[in-house]
Amino acid sequence: MIYDLIIVGAGPAGVSAALNLKILNKRFLWIGSKALSAKIARAEKVMNYPGLPEATGAQLADAFRAHVAAMGIDIHEAMVNMIAPMKDHYGVAAGADFFEAKTVILTTGVAAAGALPGEEALLGRGVSYCATCDGALYRGKTIAAVVTSPRFEHEVEYLAGLAAKVFFLPTYKNPAVAAENVETLPARAAGVEGEKRVNGVKLTTGEAIPVDGVFILREAISLSALLPKLATEDGHIAVDRRMATNLPGVFAAGDCTGRPYQYTKAVGEGNIAAHSAVEYLAEKERNPV
Ligand SMILES: Cc1cc2nc3c(=O)[nH]c(=O)nc-3n(C[C@H](O)[C@H](O)[C@H](O)COP(=O)(O)OP(=O)(O)OC[C@H]3O[C@@H](n4cnc5c(N)ncnc54)[C@H](O)[C@@H]3O)c2cc1C
Repeated sequence: MIYDLIIVGAGPAGVSAALNLKILNKRFLWIGSKALSAKIARAEKVMNYPGLPEATGAQLADAFRAHVAAMGIDIHEAMVNMIAPMKDHYGVAAGADFFEAKTVILTTGVAAAGALPGEEALLGRGVSYCATCDGALYRGKTIAAVVTSPRFEHEVEYLAGLAAKVFFLPTYKNPAVAAENVETLPARAAGVEGEKRVNGVKLTTGEAIPVDGVFILREAISLSALLPKLATEDGHIAVDRRMATNLPGVFAAGDCTGRPYQYTKAVGEGNIAAHSAVEYLAEKERNPV
């Protein structure tokens, strides 16, 4: 089955795109976190969201979740690892699942931290973003897991069931992964090492640990790894006023398209991207190539 639309990311931009697609009566798949974006709840007080002068981020997040639930919209809980252009549509890999869609709306936000030195050069040669896709390649081996959110701890446990040893490098406080072969290191990852393949991870202490592979599980995947031919400008996705990217049928909205990083910009762009994607589909139907 080929979906008409797939939304990638569940922050304010994704919420807005999903609500509008539902109102427009479209069948779409929405891939992200059911808890929505952690960035919504993090704001102590939101002063600039029209109509909600005293809202905290947590209240805004609750309101978004309630709105999504009231509209009967479901979120497929997963990270998208890669989007591949196919003949006249796109393949979307999310964990062990593969979906297809005529149009894609990217609402992936911006990552707080950029890629580690060596990460992009060794992607697919020992660096992986997906435990369920690539975990089996490291059966009986030694790996590192660089993890930015407790949301991915179950993936570390999954990897521990395959690998002989997992060096766990969380970037947050109070990590909780319990498995005999998992060693939680107090340092952070500073880089990925290796020539043709990964052979180690450099730590912020200056020490290097030898590993056969490194899983980097963070809230966002670099744009060049996600969709290699996507045009960018100053590290953001280049879009026109319709939120269309350089790739036919791919739209983008929210922080991922540039500053200012604000809820209302994200919500407004999510709305435009949804409408533009629907217009694109209608135009394709009128004038099939
Ligand atoms: C502490 C703090 C306070 C803030 N206060 C304010 C404020 O008061 N007012 C204001 O206007 N703005 C504020 N902001 C900014 C606001 O949070 C962002 O502008 C807004 O969340 C952007 O929404 P977005 O949907 O574009 O991206 P995000 O909220 O970043 O959501 C993107 C989502 O997509 C997910 N994602 C990324 N890649 C993938 C993938 N490959 N597959 C699946 N999912 C993926 C991410 O995990 C994330 O959940 C604040 C931000 C912070 C951090």
